[in-house]
Amino acid sequence: ENLNKGLAKTKESVFKKLSRAVVGKSTVDDDVLDELEEVLITSDVGVDTTLKIIERIEERVAQDKFLGTSELNRILKEEIAALLEENNKGDYDAYQLPKSEYPYVIMVVGVNGVGKTTTIGKLAHQFKNAGKKVMLGAADTFRAAAVDQLIIWSERVGVPVVNQGMGADPASVAFETLTKAKEEGSDVVIIDTAGRLHNKINLMNELSKIKRVMDRVIPGAPNEILLILDGSTGQNAFEQAKQFTKATEVNALAITKLDGTAKGGVVIGVSDQFKVPVKYIGIGEGMEDLQVFNRNEFVASLFD
Ligand code: GDP
Repeated sequence: ENLNKGLAKTKESVFKKLSRAVVGKSTVDDDVLDELEEVLITSDVGVDTTLKIIERIEERVAQDKFLGTSELNRILKEEIAALLEENNKGDYDAYQLPKSEYPYVIMVVGVNGVGKTTTIGKLAHQFKNAGKKVMLGAADTFRAAAVDQLIIWSERVGVPVVNQGMGADPASVAFETLTKAKEEGSDVVIIDTAGRLHNKINLMNELSKIKRVMDRVIPGAPNEILLILDGSTGQNAFEQAKQFTKATEVNALAITKLDGTAKGGVVIGVSDQFKVPVKYIGIGEGMEDLQVFNRNEFVASLFD
């Protein structure tokens, strides 16, 4: 189905590298493990996470000296699923919100171009489909294009958007959006923010100001700080995750553009390294091309 299609490039690349790694070998030995390490690192899993996976596989080799290379796919699948489980617990329905008298507030962060606006549009669509009343807030007021794009998505999906134009104070947009959402009894609010990483102190100050204002309107808001990463950028995605998790309390990830890339290993590494669950993955440009992340389906579409 869609997920398999979305991850096809990563799968093809991992398969090719894996079969090269085991050529002429019937059991998993040190050479195969060395090759495997390279396969994972070059698939953008990240060095730290790769070493963890290799260690787990070494343990299995220690238990079974004649572990066949034909078993390698299955074992990788099991070990990666187990690793993902640490930060991505059970399967949940992301569109069923916790019961509350207030709207559920999602603050979306990430650098420009990663697919922030598109992901917000897709999310709005999915929440609406799940019967939720959605409100958007255009607090990325730094770029005219961001405000315009969000308005276009709001029209396409058919949900309201609060917008004070380009250059407005993002905290003021957040205040108005949450106030309106509370008045109108919205179920979920999704706020876009500007992603200027080049000025870390500014970014931190701006995000904490927006959060402070949100919390004043709705106690505990934002419920979710969703960081959007472009999966096709490989190591840049790791660097952005590092910066944003330092700047604010990121508690969910959406990894986009997995359809066009062989770098899908990012999903495994980022989640492990930053101890943040991957909540959504983007596998195309259309409204339907956002999936709730499920670790078992993810590894199955890579290794089955
Ligand atoms: P923003 O600057 O972060 O708001 O980025 P946009 O939402 O404008 O997206 C930038 C480009 O990436 C657009 O052309 C989107 O259609 C595209 N895009 C976003 N998500 C995905 C995805 O999951 N797959 C693909 N193939 N393209 C995507």
